[in-house]
Amino acid sequence: MNILVVDDNRVIRDIVSAMIKDSGHVPIQADGHVAALHHLETSKIDLVLMDIEMPEVNGFELTQKIRLIHPEWIPIIFLSSNDGENYLAQGIDAGGDDYLTKPVKHVILNAKIKAMERISLMKDELDRANKQLEILTSIDPLTQILNRRGFEETLITAWQHNERQKSDLSLLMIDIDFFKLYNDNYGHPKGDECLTKVANVFTQSLNRATDSIARYGGEEFVAVLPCTPVDGARFKAKDLKLSLLKEKIRHEYSTVLPFVSVSIGVSNTCFGAQTPTDLIKQADIALYKAKQDGRNGYALFDSSLEK
Ligand code: GH3
Ligand code: MG
Ligand code: MG
Ligand code: MG
Repeated sequence: MNILVVDDNRVIRDIVSAMIKDSGHVPIQADGHVAALHHLETSKIDLVLMDIEMPEVNGFELTQKIRLIHPEWIPIIFLSSNDGENYLAQGIDAGGDDYLTKPVKHVILNAKIKAMERISLMKDELDRANKQLEILTSIDPLTQILNRRGFEETLITAWQHNERQKSDLSLLMIDIDFFKLYNDNYGHPKGDECLTKVANVFTQSLNRATDSIARYGGEEFVAVLPCTPVDGARFKAKDLKLSLLKEKIRHEYSTVLPFVSVSIGVSNTCFGAQTPTDLIKQADIALYKAKQDGRNGYALFDSSLEK
């Protein structure tokens, strides 16, 4: 572990540092708040040993500051020559995790470091599990692409990026044609298989790293295409439609083709959407038009469609 030793007294810093080295860890010294905050900013610090009495900013104040600036938890142990109960209580209130009195015995310091290391490792594990959980909650279990939640997060990020860059953001709302008839005639398991195939085809067809595809719900998919003007979105809509047709997934009950096809609604920020929700609504309106136009095709949003 990298252990930050904050103490205005050079001799104490050196003694404590020697103990830390002896325990197999790396000591980093700071003579006050400026150096301490600098090290916390620039190096990976796993534990802080904090003096209390220091000129300018004392250990309590510095601890409060660290807790404010660094939302991720870094264990802080106070090292003070004052063994008053009030001091200990104040230290914990300020955000410290433990309190030791100086001069500290090597064996005690070593044991406390070990205990903090254990808690720290458990916390790392918990953070990792949480991150994994967050990924899992954004993925659709059937198709393994982003789900509605993952899509919404992606769209918000893309929208914010687009506002900064002032480039075009396109959205494609994609709906499988006559999918109810597919399910009713081939059965739900085949329907699920079909949805997975469609998701795979779309994933493969989107080759820009910034593009993403998600399952919006049921048999509806949505593609987010950042930095893509209307022409590009039109091209991509055609491309997705054709790449699915190439798969020739049999659908004898569709009245447009004997294969699974899709209809696509296209929206783009240049059509006047003020919010991400507007962009979705416009793509949905365009999709309705594509369905009315006979399916197996795409339509662009146009304000005249809103009536
Ligand atoms: P349209 O061409 O107008 O889009 O007609 P459609 O039949 O595709 O549309 P509709 O909304 O009437 O039906 C959608 C169907 O999608 C209903 C349901 O059978 C099917 N579906 C929705 N979610 C799932 C799913 O998770 N698995 C399977 N197998 N089918 C689903
Ligand atoms: Mg001091
Ligand atoms: Mg639908
Ligand atoms: Mg449909």
